[in-house]
Amino acid sequence: MSCVFIISAPSGSGKSTLVNRLMASDKNLIFSVSYTTRAPRGHEKDGQAYNFITREDFEARIAKGEFLEHALVFGNYYGTHRGILERGRSEGKDVVLDIDVQGARQLKEQIPDAVSVFILAPSREELAKRLRARSEDSEEVIERRLSGAAREIQDYRLYDYVLVNDDVDRASERLQAIVEAERKGQDNPGVTAMRRTNPAVTARVERLLASFAVRED
Ligand code: ADP
Ligand code: 5GP
Repeated sequence: MSCVFIISAPSGSGKSTLVNRLMASDKNLIFSVSYTTRAPRGHEKDGQAYNFITREDFEARIAKGEFLEHALVFGNYYGTHRGILERGRSEGKDVVLDIDVQGARQLKEQIPDAVSVFILAPSREELAKRLRARSEDSEEVIERRLSGAAREIQDYRLYDYVLVNDDVDRASERLQAIVEAERKGQDNPGVTAMRRTNPAVTARVERLLASFAVRED
């Protein structure tokens, strides 16, 4: 049985950056390409970031039970195809899912052994800076993402690990360390320190949430 890794984060935290690095460095992982009804962004190609399909097609696939989980995110459907688990098994690889918290909740019910990681930017100020640096969204959308983030961060309680993406190289190493420790079923102090149940992690997230209450930017 291959391992299933669920990775979630508020938009702008650096999840795609870290997942792309992980996929490039670890050839024993396969990435689950989700289905979505949202329109492709500039450079996104069908079948790579997502399988882009119509709402009718998505609803027909829901009716046929094709999805392991699906959710409405910002008004669009997103879903994980059941076939990814069989592919992981037949190729002898572990599976990485980039899904939101609603999907993570559904997945955990079906696959209790799935390992979940919540990625966070170190502060509201830094999250705002990254969203602006990415220059993909209007100022209005950025503000909406920031106010949504405070709500999303509270969902960290659902996850096994919390990874603060401060320095990108360090955060990449930590994500890889979680994958390796879980594969081997062997904890090490660096990985244990990121467990959500660790009181220091709770304290760190509470400080981050406080930075949203006291507007820093
Ligand atoms: P997400 O997938 O979570 O929405 P991205 O991976 O697109 O986030 O990252 C948002 C922006 O922040 C990008 O411009 C990315 O290059 C930058 N970024 C990611 N990680 C870091 C980091 N540790 N430090 C500074 N900038 C980062
Ligand atoms: P974006 O449109 O920015 O690529 O993604 C928006 C959100 O949808 C992100 O939080 C992403 O993790 C989530 N998402 C992507 N694919 C899936 C999926 O298959 N299922 C669920 N539940 N969420 C997904």
